[in-house]
Formats: sequence, C-alpha cells, structure tokens
Amino acid sequence: MHLSDEAATLNAGEILARSLPDSLTAYLVGDLGAGKTTLTRGLLRGLGYTGKVKSPTYTLVEPYKDSRIVVYHFDFYRFTDAHEFLEAGLDEYFEGLGVRLVEWADRAQPFLPPADLEIRLQVSAAGGRDLALRALTGAGQQCLHDFMT
Ligand code: ADP
Ligand code: MG
Repeated sequence: MHLSDEAATLNAGEILARSLPDSLTAYLVGDLGAGKTTLTRGLLRGLGYTGKVKSPTYTLVEPYKDSRIVVYHFDFYRFTDAHEFLEAGLDEYFEGLGVRLVEWADRAQPFLPPADLEIRLQVSAAGGRDLALRALTGAGQQCLHDFMT
C-alpha cells in the first residue's frame, strides 16, 4: 500500500486501530525515518488517545493505558546486546494483555516473543512510503482481515 505523505501514514495507523484485539504483538520493521513511530502515533490517535506520542528510543517502552486498549510501544534501536531486553525486565510486558508495538525487534532477538503481525515500512522510490502487512498467527490474520475490509 502506498502512503503518499505523513497524513496517509497516520491514517493507516488509525484504520489499523479499529481492527486491534486486546492482545497482539506487532513488529514495526523499517529503516530510521521509515515512519514506524508515525504509524504508531496514528494508531494511538485511532484508539482515542489525544496526548503526545514520543519515540521510546531512550525510555525503551512507552505505555498508553488511557486508550481503549493498553498499548506498549517499544524501541530497541539503542541496544548493543539483546540481553538488555531481559535485564530491563521487558519480557514481563509480553505476558499479559496488551497491544505491543515493537521497533527494531531484531536487536532483542532471540529473547523477544514472536510477532502476530509484521508491519513493514519503506521509503518509496516515488516519494512517500510503502506499507506492507504480514500476518504470522491466527490473531494477526484476523487483524489483517479486518484491516482490509
Ligand atoms: P521511524 O520511527 O521509522 O524512525 P518516524 O516515524 O519517526 O520514523 O519518522 C518518519 C519521518 O517521515 C517523519 O518526519 C514523518 O513526518 C515522515 N513521514 C511519515 N510517513 C510519511 C510518508 N508517507 N511520506 C513522507 N514522509 C513521511
Ligand atoms: Mg521510531
């Protein structure tokens, strides 16, 4: 799916918000500046969250509990060793309910639980961004199906 500008990325996030179950893990895959945090911002807006959404690059995780669904937004860009995921106790966030959105998931492997959904963003040759969604579990498939319809 082509996203011609920032507003289109926010809109894609808002549409995705409508099909979210109360428990899901999604990896946000793409280079720096691909729009991963922008999409998350749109998703939270779609859930009714009106506050500021900042990148969790330094805090590792930002929780959003005042939306319809509990959302945890992670960013492991700064990890130099995947063990930091366990040392920070972040595995606990993957045990209960919640929508977990993870940027730079590869930097926490092999400790990070698997994704239900993979959200890929890429800078498009034509300008803007390209978005691709891939379901990896039944929960991911359900979410993807609802997103497309
Ligand atoms: P990431 O989290 O992947 O590093 P960000 O979402 O922080 O990326 O930043 C992406 C940048 O690209 C922001 O400046 C944002 O305004 C811009 N952007 C987001 N979506 C699009 C789009 N579809 N077309 C052009 N620019 C976009
Ligand atoms: Mg980001």
